[in-house]
Amino acid sequence: MRLGSAGARRRLMLIALLGVGVPVLVLAAFGAYQTRHLGRYLSDTSSDYGAYAASLGAQTLSQELERRVSASAADIRLATLWGGASQRLLNLMNTGDPLLRDPCLVPDTEVIRAGETASATAEGKPAGTPLPPDTPVAARAFRSPDGALAGEVTAPARVWRAVLGTVYDTMYVVPIGPAQRPLVLVPLLGFQGRVVAVAGWRLDDAALDQRFFRGLFTVRVFGDPRVYRADRMAGALSLAVYDESGRERFRMGQPAGDFVYAESRVGPALPGWRVAVGPSAGSPYLWMRRFVVAAYLLMLFLVALCLAALLMALQQASAEIRLAEAKSAFLANVSHELKTPLALIRMAGETLQLGRVRNDEERLRFLQVINRECRRLTFMINHVLDFATIEAGKKEFHFHPTDLGRVVRETVEVFEPQFQAGQFEVRVDVPPDLPPVEADSEAVTRCLMNFIDNAVKYSKDSRFIEVRARVRPPGGDGDAGEARLAVADHGIGLTPHDRERIFDKFFRVEQGLVHDVKGSGLGLSLVRQIAEAHGGRVEVESSLGQGSTFTLVLPARQDRVSTGRS
Ligand code: ADP
Repeated sequence: MRLGSAGARRRLMLIALLGVGVPVLVLAAFGAYQTRHLGRYLSDTSSDYGAYAASLGAQTLSQELERRVSASAADIRLATLWGGASQRLLNLMNTGDPLLRDPCLVPDTEVIRAGETASATAEGKPAGTPLPPDTPVAARAFRSPDGALAGEVTAPARVWRAVLGTVYDTMYVVPIGPAQRPLVLVPLLGFQGRVVAVAGWRLDDAALDQRFFRGLFTVRVFGDPRVYRADRMAGALSLAVYDESGRERFRMGQPAGDFVYAESRVGPALPGWRVAVGPSAGSPYLWMRRFVVAAYLLMLFLVALCLAALLMALQQASAEIRLAEAKSAFLANVSHELKTPLALIRMAGETLQLGRVRNDEERLRFLQVINRECRRLTFMINHVLDFATIEAGKKEFHFHPTDLGRVVRETVEVFEPQFQAGQFEVRVDVPPDLPPVEADSEAVTRCLMNFIDNAVKYSKDSRFIEVRARVRPPGGDGDAGEARLAVADHGIGLTPHDRERIFDKFFRVEQGLVHDVKGSGLGLSLVRQIAEAHGGRVEVESSLGQGSTFTLVLPARQDRVSTGRS
């Protein structure tokens, strides 16, 4: 039976939502918001610091190279300022710095200028046309005493142009091929501030060893007093230096995978070289990332758990409300069902007692009324008692060979007065040689009574009822056989949805005829429990407005002697 409980359920839902659902969702949203913002702050801070460390590293490396080149060129720069270029000056370039090897001197800068334009003429262009920037231009040079350099130095036209046009102390790195070490060129300014010669070295990056890098970065990056707790940050970072071929030349700190915060190019001092900085293994950044993911997952899981529990609690509470309402409807129905026969019995008894009957025929009619109503009362009370016993698990079933034909005949006989009163046409279809079935005959009779009682109650105008019994005797191989006891009517029928629920205790279809017909909603629930106690089942075929067939299906042979509630 469905209820007028919508209000109670709505209130329950509101309380649950306000008391649990909303707080849980708000807390989760707040937690997620906070985690996201803290996480983002930490992540931004770490990657900003990483990017800063990378650019500081690249800058430091570049400055250090420039410093060493300047230091090595200092003497010769001074000498050219006063005296011009000469082969003797080469000695001043041998400073012993392992980074700068094989010194050479290009004294005749006019030749280079002429070479640039001469080559242009040679290429068929008008004289004075500058060469394309990357055209290699060779210049005569004094070589280092060990002869490692050739008698000439080759650099692209743009490098010569830049070197010769310079007015400051600066340096130019000329990459001259993958296998060879790059050349560092330093313009030497003469008396009038013009470039009078060009000094050069081979840049031997093999001199940039682990000690060099470690010392440089420890002091100038992680020992930088401008950065707050840079030493501490060093533990959380992994810094690597890669050369132009992508080979790792130096690393500080264990990296955590391939992730890097930032990369910075070293610049013209070491073309193609870069400094990359990422989190080190065990850095707080990684912990924070893992924590954020774990916190989100945990929050999701807990919210889902909470909402699922809330939903289940609501469903449970709603089912309890439905049951409570069904129980009160049941009480109202049953008391009505008890009152009607009692009133009829009292009325018939009083009539007889006061001698208000005119003849024996009338007396017999009143006695029949008393008899019929007493049976009905007994049927109802047994119904409720049986249900209570089975519910309490105290019902004992006694299986013995039962003649289904006899059960059908006797039950139909009991309903005879109702059939007559309702002008029902009843057809009994039971084969004469039906084998006995091991069952609790009283319980099976109760099932059949329920089926027939319902067929009578829920038939409308088409008053035709058929009662059928069939038995397939037990076979070999543990086949227990099958007994089928069916009652078919042409009454109001059931929707597929209601068909699922009519076996629930206290359930009654709420529309139509059922409102006018009294009942307890216990009958079919009782039938199902009896069927299950026999190891059988109940089948329903029904369509709305067409009628229904209820079939009790039992095994013909029982493997147990007596059992309680299944
Ligand atoms: P009740 O005492 O209400 O008949 P039952 O448990 O026997 O209780 O039946 C439960 C509900 O199933 C009934 O209220 C009715 O709505 C539906 N029902 C049972 N038998 C039939 C039938 N033969 N035709 C249509 N509806 C039926």
